[in-house]
Amino acid sequence: MPPASQPADLWQESLSDLITDPRELADFLQLDRRLDPAGEHALAQFPLKVPRAFAERMKKGNWRDPLLRQVWPSFVEEREAPGFTADPLREHHYNPRPGLLHKYHGRVLLIAAPHCAIHCRYCFRREFDYRENSPARAQWREAFNYIGADASIEEVILSGGDPLALGDGQLRWLIESISEIPHVGAVRIHTRLPVVIPERVSGGLLTMLRGCRQRVVVVIHCNHAQEFDAGVAAALAALHRAGVTLLNQSVLLKDVNDDAAALSALSKRLFAENVLPYYLHLPDRVAGTQHFSVTLEAAEKIMRELQASLPGYLVPRLVREDPGEPAKTRIV
Ligand SMILES: *Cc1c(COP(=O)(O)O)cnc(C)c1O
Ligand code: SF4
Repeated sequence: MPPASQPADLWQESLSDLITDPRELADFLQLDRRLDPAGEHALAQFPLKVPRAFAERMKKGNWRDPLLRQVWPSFVEEREAPGFTADPLREHHYNPRPGLLHKYHGRVLLIAAPHCAIHCRYCFRREFDYRENSPARAQWREAFNYIGADASIEEVILSGGDPLALGDGQLRWLIESISEIPHVGAVRIHTRLPVVIPERVSGGLLTMLRGCRQRVVVVIHCNHAQEFDAGVAAALAALHRAGVTLLNQSVLLKDVNDDAAALSALSKRLFAENVLPYYLHLPDRVAGTQHFSVTLEAAEKIMRELQASLPGYLVPRLVREDPGEPAKTRIV
């Protein structure tokens, strides 16, 4: 007899049942698509992907909903915008092994997963060549050899794509391989999954993180307080209890969170859920993302308002990425 099939993890079911059709999303939110038609080219280049649990946190009938704006493949993406290019960070310059970016002293970034659970329209890696950077295990060993041979590397960052979109088996293999490198003291995971599909923070994942020899840092990518619900709060509480350091990174996005009140509410909500704000990124000038641009002056004004109203530890650092610099550029 064939073995009985195991019920798939809940989060894997959610991941294989994303909303990918703009008509479905617009109908679900009771929106008239003619008011902001989806761009055919934009969709073909970077498809729509939205977890249902995330769509449920959007307000019905509101084109200006801050969660919807992050994922809606608007026709405006297809407008020409001088100065916006496919790879503004010139990341291919820092790609010494497949899947590995070594740009800053002391830390390397691994493109651990070729896919994400959600497609964020402002994503700076929306045109990244994941096919070139989806190493098989043999190539991952080359990446680990590279890290093992350079004792200055103290932190390995799992990024992507979204590393938590990987199954537990692959993730465990990556984390265990990193654990074997003696000079690496911290593993950092950049992920949107605890927010967009909170069931991803399963018992199996927590056991894996608790068992890790190194300090574990999880940087959630949350842009607006409305992204939280009880499921997200429970996932973050579980990570906190597992001894994980929780930080948040946001992108400053026009008509999503480009006002001090929204960012202040976000910082307070993060703190209530054991997460500290880390970076607020000025968006990179990636083709197709010009409608999210915020001017430097507007960003600095927002930062002054945040500094005047929040304790220092709840004020994120405003940064921008400039190619060729030894770190992200701190603006405020
Ligand atoms: C942002 C980034 C890091 C991490 O930088 P921190 O300032 O430590 O958060 C590391 N490597 C690459 C390639 C990055 O883009
Ligand atoms: S989850 Fe991160 S990598 Fe994936 S599309 Fe969103 S911003 Fe880009």
